[in-house]
Amino acid sequence: MERTFIAIKPDGVQRGLISEIIARFERKGFKLVAIKLVVPSKAFAGKHYHDLKDRPFFNGLCNFLSSGPVLAMVWEGEGVIRYGRKLIGATDPSKSEPGTIRGDLAIVVGRNIIHGSDGPETAKDEINLWFKPEELT
Ligand code: ATP
Ligand code: MG
Repeated sequence: MERTFIAIKPDGVQRGLISEIIARFERKGFKLVAIKLVVPSKAFAGKHYHDLKDRPFFNGLCNFLSSGPVLAMVWEGEGVIRYGRKLIGATDPSKSEPGTIRGDLAIVVGRNIIHGSDGPETAKDEINLWFKPEELT
C-alpha cells in the first residue's frame, strides 16, 4: 500500500498543533504506521532537503528544521502522497487555501509547520532516511 513521509516541523510542535494535524489525517481515513519525536542535526536536515541545497534559503531552512523536536511520521493509504499534499496546502501559507493545514494554521513560508513528500520516489527516500525498517509497522 502507498506510504508517505509527513513531518510536523519545530514550529508546529512548539505551537501545540500535533493533535490537530494528526486528527486531519486520521479523519480522512489514512493509517499511521510509524511515529517518533526527533531533534534532527543540521547535517541530517541538509540530507532531508538536499534537493534545495542551491537555494538561498537552504542554510536558514536547515537551521530551522534542526532547531527543536520534529514529529516524524509515515502515513499509509490509497493516494496518500498526493492527497497528503492536498491536506497540507500550498508551500506559502499566505497562498494556501482555507481548509488546508497551512491555510488554516500558518502565515509565512519559513514557518509552514508541516512537510509532506512530493512524489513516490521522495516518499521512499524520506521514509528510509528518517526510519529504520523495524520501526515501520
Ligand atoms: P516541504 O518540502 O517542507 O513539504 P514544499 O514541498 O511545499 O515543502 P519545497 O519547495 O519543497 O516546498 O520547500 C521546502 C521548504 O523550504 C518549504 O516548506 C519552506 O519551509 C522552505 N521554503 C521554500 N521556499 C522558501 C522561500 N522562498 N523562503 C523561505 N523558505 C522557503
Ligand atoms: Mg518539498
